[in-house]
Amino acid sequence: MIAVRNLTRAYTDGAKGSVPVLRDVNFEVAAGEFVALTGRSGSGKSTLLNILGGLDHEYAGEVVVDGVRLSELNDVSLSQYRNTRVGIVFQSFHLVQGLTLIENVALPSMFGTAAIPAADQKAKEALVRVGLGEKTARQPHQLSGGERQRVAIARALFMNPKVLLCDEPTGNLDQQTADEITAVFKTLNQQGLTVVAVTHEERLKQCASRVAHLSEGRIQ
Ligand code: ADP
Ligand code: MG
Repeated sequence: MIAVRNLTRAYTDGAKGSVPVLRDVNFEVAAGEFVALTGRSGSGKSTLLNILGGLDHEYAGEVVVDGVRLSELNDVSLSQYRNTRVGIVFQSFHLVQGLTLIENVALPSMFGTAAIPAADQKAKEALVRVGLGEKTARQPHQLSGGERQRVAIARALFMNPKVLLCDEPTGNLDQQTADEITAVFKTLNQQGLTVVAVTHEERLKQCASRVAHLSEGRIQ
């Protein structure tokens, strides 16, 4: 489902010049896997996840996700990939205040070129999948932190991607809520979704089928 070959990414730092973050990363994820991605702070986990999510294109090497060769896409195709083929969940929920949960989840449909048929119905189905079927008319400020993260997960599921990428998705939550969100990922994985989650959480690592560790610019 994911194949990364000889991936190299460096940032330009005014004083130091080019600073390598990922050096020759090779990383594969099979369909249906649940991979926890670990590594110390600054090891490049978010950099790798952003590349997989089509948010960063400034790298050398080959990146293929769900049959799409990201390394060869132009900006338009890359944004299309982001909006349709992959779901991304961050530590902060990035919900829009003043919009209902349905509207928040259906938001990706506003960035595409064509209108999504039955967008509201699809948004509702995504909210049901994360256990918020009864609260679809609410707004983000009427939810707990864990519920907000569930909305962010529903939004990531809206276009029915096969891959879900998560960057420290439980990092803003208390332990019990974090465990509940971890259980949501486990269920989604059991339903067939491929999941890659950057995390420090023991519980999330235990739920994963494999732990990949990033250190010194490589997957160890
Ligand atoms: P992690 O998620 O593992 O904590 P990151 O991928 O966020 O690590 O960052 C890896 C390294 O790259 C860090 O040293 C960070 O300072 C640097 N870095 C990240 N983003 C940028 C950027 N946009 N410009 C310059 N340096 C960056
Ligand atoms: Mg990070």
